[in-house]
Amino acid sequence: MAGAIDLQEYRGARRRLVETLQAQGLRDLSVLHAIDEIPRHLFIPTGVRHRAYEDSALPIGSGQTISQPSIHARYLELLSLTGKERVLEIGTGSGYQTALLSRLAAQVFSIERIAGLLDKAREVIQQMGANNISFMLGDGTLGWPQFAPFDAILVGAAAPEIPMAYVAQLAEGGRILIPLGDRDEQVLHLFTRHGDELARQDIAPVRFVPLVGKHSWKS
Ligand code: SAH
Repeated sequence: MAGAIDLQEYRGARRRLVETLQAQGLRDLSVLHAIDEIPRHLFIPTGVRHRAYEDSALPIGSGQTISQPSIHARYLELLSLTGKERVLEIGTGSGYQTALLSRLAAQVFSIERIAGLLDKAREVIQQMGANNISFMLGDGTLGWPQFAPFDAILVGAAAPEIPMAYVAQLAEGGRILIPLGDRDEQVLHLFTRHGDELARQDIAPVRFVPLVGKHSWKS
């Protein structure tokens, strides 16, 4: 399957990105290894593809953006995945983070509300041959109850507050990463479930596109 993709292409640029992330303090070797291996340029529209290995957010069409690599790296490091987890991702977008997750967890469930983005992401991931990802077109603020409970829920878009479905669909000890705030500025939050309690950690100020759905922003 891997024959469809030339992994040597951009290999040097990818290696330099990994070094930049290490210099910023990223230590999780499995995350660094996944970034070294996943061809981020394939998830980026051709017009801005030459910038694929800069540490910047880039437009992916339909008014959405792919986050900068250091944000993805930070997100994934915070989850401390061991390879055994079932992970729910809200906001497939380009599919790049989905591909990283497929290397770091056992099973990935990813929901996107914009059909054009989901189709594209699915196509690139199919070329890569990952077979532990399930996609759904729909409103991610409802979660994906059929496949719950999840060990981790990553929300790649910002909400005013945490949609309650996520808490209901979280396994014991599971984690939710979600940017919460207003439409322009948010704080990345990490919630960890201990029994009926949800421990909360504020991680860092961030800027994400809005999470649009029944239990979040309406448009
Ligand atoms: N991690 C992705 C982030 C893409 S931006 C990447 O790096 O490419 C966030 C995505 O969330 C957008 O594609 C947007 O369409 C999607 N989104 C927003 N609200 C959503 C919802 N309720 N359900 C599913 N996806 C949603």
